[in-house]
Amino acid sequence: MIILLLIWLVQWICHYISVYLDRDLSHQRTRTLQGTGVQSVRSWGAMLWTALQHGLFWAITGTLVLLLALCWWLRTRICEVDNSRDSESEESEEEDLPEMNMIGIFSRRFQLSVPKLSSRRQVVQELLTDLLRVCQNLFSDSFFPVLQPVIGVGSACEGWSTQKSEDVVYCMFVPLKPPRGHTFHLEPDPARETLPPSMRVRVELACTCAGEQPDQLCFLHHSQEELKRNQVASLLHTLCTGPYLDGEKIALWFQTFVISAWSVVPQSRRYRMKVLPSCRSCKMKLMKASGRSFFVEMVFSVQQGDSDIFLSSQPTEAQFPPSTTWLESYAVAEAKFFRHVSMQAPPHSCHLKCLRLCARLLEGSGLSIYALKTAVMHLLTLIPLSEWQHRRLLMRVDDIMNYLRCCLEETRLEHFFFGNEDMPEEISLPLAFQRAQPLNLFQHLAQDPAAQTEALQVLDKLQYHLYFEF
Ligand SMILES: [Zn+2]
Repeated sequence: MIILLLIWLVQWICHYISVYLDRDLSHQRTRTLQGTGVQSVRSWGAMLWTALQHGLFWAITGTLVLLLALCWWLRTRICEVDNSRDSESEESEEEDLPEMNMIGIFSRRFQLSVPKLSSRRQVVQELLTDLLRVCQNLFSDSFFPVLQPVIGVGSACEGWSTQKSEDVVYCMFVPLKPPRGHTFHLEPDPARETLPPSMRVRVELACTCAGEQPDQLCFLHHSQEELKRNQVASLLHTLCTGPYLDGEKIALWFQTFVISAWSVVPQSRRYRMKVLPSCRSCKMKLMKASGRSFFVEMVFSVQQGDSDIFLSSQPTEAQFPPSTTWLESYAVAEAKFFRHVSMQAPPHSCHLKCLRLCARLLEGSGLSIYALKTAVMHLLTLIPLSEWQHRRLLMRVDDIMNYLRCCLEETRLEHFFFGNEDMPEEISLPLAFQRAQPLNLFQHLAQDPAAQTEALQVLDKLQYHLYFEF
């Protein structure tokens, strides 16, 4: 368009100049007739003027040609820049393409697409909130522990469960508070020096004479006859063994309550519920009419001060202590850490998929999933969260496996919550944890070189399987 306009402009200028020259020449001819004396001088002038006119013409034409050349150069340059940009982006896409393909293969091979854990978690949360409300109303005049709002913990609630959708167990901590007229005192268990540390919860009676309801009986200042006559039993007489809170008695009490109260909660219209055998927790199987089912496990717990560290009624695989022994649990702090990471990380962060992939790989290998989870938690504080984008999944999986390898080689993997200076402020830990020396989760391997060698060989096989055999 610009070129056409310029050509038209050149033509118009040429035309104008030729018309001007014609007029000038005709003037020249009439003047030739007027006298020969001045003729030569005038003709020289006219010729000079014509030459000037021609000079002007060439100057304009030259400028226009220069302009045209400039336009052409600019256009070529812009095209070159565009082309280079396109080819750069194509190259980067081409570079990313094999990696994205690999991620796709990994996702299918290890079934990384996370099932609808969060929507189910919501259902579970609502169900338990309703159940606890019924429980509070029913036992408001009794002296059973006061059940606090549940806290989702474990792989299903953190979003990296390796189980199939129908086998997922939603683990919920139910914190217990002492009822009116009672106090809880946490005592280290003198008979056991284990990891995790164990404690007992001693229940003491407190005076309620000067409380908000002075007409009610006080366990300390009313006689046993008066208490018996009014059928008032303290927590010490119901869910304790000796002066200590008993996890098994609490589980049995709550299971009985759930079975009797189920028809009252609105969810009973949508789900059939079955309480499964469990001696220290309350395990429920919920089934829909469509046949779909899932599991909920309620674990009773006592908070340490106002921190995120709790004592849990749930025994571990390695420990099955007496029912009055409660094990220190970091599950709430871990769940809070993963929530914190998910809030800080960019959208579509791959950290949960990485953990899920590695956990699937480790399943049945004898290597500890908890050690893996600890390694991932450390890496989440060491590698900036912006580096956990989806397209970096393979790099991060590589980092996790190599981190585990280094820990096994050095027989040293530090517990995430002891003496960790990289702990996010959101996680509330008792002062003793912050000041503690780091705790080595691989201490047992340091004392058993054969077990260390075996663990390294297992990891070798898993890495080989991950990279070459899938
Ligand atoms: Zn009293």
